Amino acid sequence: MHDKSHSLLIRDGQVLMSDGSLRTTSLLIRDGRIAAIGAEQSADTILDAAGNYVLPGLIDIHTHGIGEDSAIGSLPHYAAREAVAGATTFLPTLFGPPDETCAHLQRHLRETDNLRRVPQVGGFRLESPYLADASAGLPRDCAPITPQLTERLWQAGAGHIRIWDLSPELPGAPEAIKQLSRLGVVCSLAHTTATIEQARAAVEAGARLVTHLFDVFPMPPMTELGVYPAGLTDYLLMEDRVVCEIIPDGTHVPPLLVEKTFRCKPPGGLVFITDSNYGSGLPPGEYDLPQAWGRVKITSPYDGIRLMERDMELASSALTPVDAFRSAVQRFGKDLATASRVCSRNPARLLGLNKGEIAIGRDGDLVILDSALHVRTTIAGGVVIYHAGQDAAI
Ligand SMILES: [Zn+2]
Repeated sequence: MHDKSHSLLIRDGQVLMSDGSLRTTSLLIRDGRIAAIGAEQSADTILDAAGNYVLPGLIDIHTHGIGEDSAIGSLPHYAAREAVAGATTFLPTLFGPPDETCAHLQRHLRETDNLRRVPQVGGFRLESPYLADASAGLPRDCAPITPQLTERLWQAGAGHIRIWDLSPELPGAPEAIKQLSRLGVVCSLAHTTATIEQARAAVEAGARLVTHLFDVFPMPPMTELGVYPAGLTDYLLMEDRVVCEIIPDGTHVPPLLVEKTFRCKPPGGLVFITDSNYGSGLPPGEYDLPQAWGRVKITSPYDGIRLMERDMELASSALTPVDAFRSAVQRFGKDLATASRVCSRNPARLLGLNKGEIAIGRDGDLVILDSALHVRTTIAGGVVIYHAGQDAAI
């Protein structure tokens, strides 16, 4: 690992400025942060980015795995594959029985010197156990909300849990949201059949995120002919206090609803996630998922990971972070600034990170993409963590 005091000059790239414009210029990173834009500087290392885009590093706040790694495997290996896919920050997302989640958290912290060995890991996310139904997993993955279990999981994460999912209709949800929000955790409404009133109570208690909007949110039934019902997703689209996640593969959510979300939410109110799983980024083929999920088939990054023994049901997406970014541009027709907003700036703001845009003083977390939006170089804290051609992990 290079020393952060090392200076890096990225020369002549098309830099996405914080006002959304593209400017052909140079960037100097020193002591891990962006130190100068535009001025001719000398540096210990010079990287030629002519003809390429220089963008804020990608941030994935919801991912269960990538390639042959997962949130229950080796975090350094996971981080290396995320680097290949342009991510400078990610939140390994755990889903499983509470006892196993505690054990994974403690092992990860032990093996990484409390995450110091994997600076790309911005903390953990718990998608279970506080879910009203186990549609995404097994009944043993879920548990009633109790202050004691919350405390046990929090202690196992040693302060590194940044996002905590829960279903707002569970007894004790508003109290848990208040307890966790006081600790600085972002609470996210997830896997829910809550009423609008229950969801609003959760937002009043401090919930600030919605876990993959539309996915596993039921549509309201038509109870009277001629009366169009408003559902939970309608409320969440209109509730400016919550940021909504979208899985942007075009399969989990139809493009029409992705566009609707862009139009409903304020500029900071939408975040693209991968919700990726073991296998994401691997070539089309059949793979065996860990944790007894069985055999899966992947046909493209945009068709999800399909459970072959369960009627080709979806088991998360096959996206990598750069696939999600490309999707914003190539599937949903957004410009680079908008794509960067939902893949970098908004998740950074949600978590209060000094990242997500190119401005003096921000962390030197960048991704360099070629004109076809493929990753050339990934830089975290001013350190090159991936360079195309030198390492092809996936
Ligand atoms: Zn998930």
